[in-house]
Amino acid sequence: MALRTIRTYGDEILEKKCREVKDMKPRYRELIDDMLDTMYEAQGVGLAAPQVGVLRRIVVIDVTEEANSPIVLINPEILELSGEQTGQEGCLSLPGKAGIVTRANYAKVKALNEDMQEIIVEGEGLLARALQHEVDHLEGEMYVSKVEGDLLDTTQAAEID
Ligand code: ZN
Repeated sequence: MALRTIRTYGDEILEKKCREVKDMKPRYRELIDDMLDTMYEAQGVGLAAPQVGVLRRIVVIDVTEEANSPIVLINPEILELSGEQTGQEGCLSLPGKAGIVTRANYAKVKALNEDMQEIIVEGEGLLARALQHEVDHLEGEMYVSKVEGDLLDTTQAAEID
């Protein structure tokens, strides 16, 4: 198990567009394992490679309470979005903060898994939100630009929830 340092908002690596993964190298497998460890340790539901300083199109997500259903997405591409949800969103790169963001309620994504085989992942609610949030990271976008109203401290945000 290896934890990587999570880059925080203001670090310019978070504003850069990530490059595609062309083939699965041992260092990417190691990166994916470390990203999962880092996400679980930080109790997040998703983490994108640029958040640990790597500008490649790799994302890990796990929205289950048991934290036992990791999803690994390489070169994810959103195929379909529909519906709408408005709710609180946070990011491991902006600890202690949250904001209200409106996203599609359903998302369907095409990606490659760790073995570079094509997979389709679709989901509603939190999974759809996480998919959109993480794909945004690969484009150098933070959720902050989508927040309605003010960014809140998580303690304040808990009160309005
Ligand atoms: Zn994030």
